[in-house]
Amino acid sequence: MLRISLLISILVLGACKSGLEQTQASSKFPKKPKNVILMIGDGMGLSQITAGMYSNNNRLNLERCKTVGLIKTHSASDLKTDSAAGATAFATGKKTYNGAISVDVDTIPIPTILEMAEAKGYATGMVATAEIVHATPACFIAHQANRNWYEEIAFDFLKTDIDLFIGGGQRYFDQRRDGTDLLFSLVENGYSLYNFKTPLDELRIPLHKKLAYFTAIDKPLTKTLGRNYLSEASTFSAEFLSKRSEKGFFMMIEGSQIDWGSHANNTDYIVEEMLDFDETIGKILDFAEADRHTLVIITADHETGGFALNPGSEMGPGKIKGAFTTGSHTCTMVPVFAYGPGAEAFSGIYENTAIFDKMANAMGLIDKKEDIR
Ligand code: MG
Ligand code: ZN
Repeated sequence: MLRISLLISILVLGACKSGLEQTQASSKFPKKPKNVILMIGDGMGLSQITAGMYSNNNRLNLERCKTVGLIKTHSASDLKTDSAAGATAFATGKKTYNGAISVDVDTIPIPTILEMAEAKGYATGMVATAEIVHATPACFIAHQANRNWYEEIAFDFLKTDIDLFIGGGQRYFDQRRDGTDLLFSLVENGYSLYNFKTPLDELRIPLHKKLAYFTAIDKPLTKTLGRNYLSEASTFSAEFLSKRSEKGFFMMIEGSQIDWGSHANNTDYIVEEMLDFDETIGKILDFAEADRHTLVIITADHETGGFALNPGSEMGPGKIKGAFTTGSHTCTMVPVFAYGPGAEAFSGIYENTAIFDKMANAMGLIDKKEDIR
């Protein structure tokens, strides 16, 4: 009997050892990524991250990223950027004025990384917890002089071949001042069209079809009021896009409402949205870990609220004593986290525009720049 249990112990030890070796081998990534996933926590400064972490008993999925950097977020017009200029910097590598949707300071359109990826044969997609025509996602696909021109931005979606988009704002496509119904045009352009009435796990999209999925007619709900799709939609999209092109894919995922909670100076709203985004980060890192060819970059366009965790804050849910300096954005640097092949390029202190340079470089979309700042 003793001999049998000893034998079992040896077998178990052997299995553990080979498991360990496997883990170590899988931490070595290939040199270049095939897929790039950019995750933007709108308004997600260090305090938003810290509030989420301590509210979640000192743990975030974000901590799985070993590469950390900082970006300077100022726009061409102001030390305080807005989300349009911030996302234009990520999408095009150019600083522009606040309110600009991927146009330069003279309102001339600038090609975006999503458009460039598409032209090179990558599959492309976006997921957001705002309207899909809202500033952050808009900057990856549209070119408009003013971020509030939602109907014009919706029209720009039809000029691209984006394989998938998931977000709110259906009304900018089918209840327009010009009377046109862009949902018909989407179908004509090869999209399978769905909204929140059909759960994502019931969708069966043929491989030759693209997908437009509206999560709300207008603004998506807050997490507190029952919005519950970000992590599911993000993993769905990664699986969907990985079947669409041999070349690989580019995807942008936005945790849009961390910013809205911060504008409202509402600590509970911030924490709920931060933890929803972090749950999604966990799912995407699981995907990247299994895939090994996916570079994941997680950052923010700016900090919002001048949010601080005041003395008296404690560990655990609902115990953060939040304080704010403003209802607007602030000018402090924000962190960048990266995971997967090519992640090392994202350490250091650099401009927000270098996020574009580093991603485009990793995807072979631009000639390598010697010193990306
Ligand atoms: Mg946004
Ligand atoms: Zn904002």
